[in-house]
Amino acid sequence: MSSKPIYLDCQATTPLDERVLQAMLPYFREYFGNPASSSHQYGWEAEAGVKQGRQLLAEAINAEPEEIVFTSGATEANNLAIKGVAEALFQKGRHLITVQTEHNAVLDPCQYLESLGFEVTYLPVNPDGTIDLAELERAFRPDTILVSVMAANNEIGVLQPLQEIGAICKERGVFFHTDAAQAIAKITLDVRELNIDLMSLTAHKIYGPKGIGALYVRRRNPRVRLAAQLHGGGHERGMRSGTLYTPQIVGFGKAVELALSEMEAEAKRLIGLRERLRSQLSVLEEIYINGHPQQRLPGNLNISVGGVDGAALLLGLQPVVALSSGAACSSAKAAPSHVLKALGRSEKLASASVRFGIGRFNTEEEIDKVAAQAIATIQSLRGSFKF
Ligand SMILES: *Cc1c(COP(=O)(O)O)cnc(C)c1O
Repeated sequence: MSSKPIYLDCQATTPLDERVLQAMLPYFREYFGNPASSSHQYGWEAEAGVKQGRQLLAEAINAEPEEIVFTSGATEANNLAIKGVAEALFQKGRHLITVQTEHNAVLDPCQYLESLGFEVTYLPVNPDGTIDLAELERAFRPDTILVSVMAANNEIGVLQPLQEIGAICKERGVFFHTDAAQAIAKITLDVRELNIDLMSLTAHKIYGPKGIGALYVRRRNPRVRLAAQLHGGGHERGMRSGTLYTPQIVGFGKAVELALSEMEAEAKRLIGLRERLRSQLSVLEEIYINGHPQQRLPGNLNISVGGVDGAALLLGLQPVVALSSGAACSSAKAAPSHVLKALGRSEKLASASVRFGIGRFNTEEEIDKVAAQAIATIQSLRGSFKF
């Protein structure tokens, strides 16, 4: 029956874990109240779910529950962090620092701010995708108000040195924001230890529901000032108005709790699957790994393939495996990935890339099938290119 391709696109989104769904269901049915209704039981029941979700999220990153602002996802959290800080601090300064390989949900708000008169430095990356800390230090100006560097890249899985970046920002008294949509509950993220002031999160990359995310906003040492981007009933301490989406928040909390409790064992298993895939593909020549070989998400493998057409390669893989060449949101564009270009890949190699996003429900058997299909496809494409 199951003729659908194997799902290996876990950097785009992940399937909902059944245990998360079960935790959410009562909040669609019996506990349907508005969590802000403080005068009756329906409100209290919903508020209890929200409180639990908020608590689980806060614990996961060593924050206080009051420091969690729920949003519709990481896109909104990034917008709130970047535009919110810029708007609150524009009298202090109008310069921001970010990185060329960031997600569009960071790059686009930065470009929007540029159109308003802010200035943004887009740091280049090393060939392995990590930033150069000396380059970061040189980018600071007296009017710098925010540094935004992602925790884990959505295309190549590369982990940035958050500890060092946090220390550099703290020393200069500049707020540090990180987009941790790909990193939450996959690596340890302690906002106190890492000196993170703002952190964007989302549920649907960790087997939770779509349409729910959060922004961590530091309240002490230092307190982050932020201008709301959605005005209304004053929810989330005035930073994000709108009735809280109780079932999604409950699901987010459950997803984080599960991923954290299984984090170490799961990382080991995913690295095993990733290395299994990588070693099988290594029978081919001209396979280039994009991004740092170890300092990356356990389940991510991104390769560029020499001597093949990128579109033909994806087409050849399609019947067996569901994946993409890069970010889901930019794969509709014909242009090669801005991330791979920032690594210094040629136009040709940047276009012929495949992102394998391995996740919780993938098996060794699936990896072997995908590897066999990739090898056959690449060999046949190269064969037909011969003259
Ligand atoms: C998926 C993703 C986003 C967008 O998150 P949504 O919750 O879908 O809005 C932002 N940044 C990164 C790094 C992502 O992987």
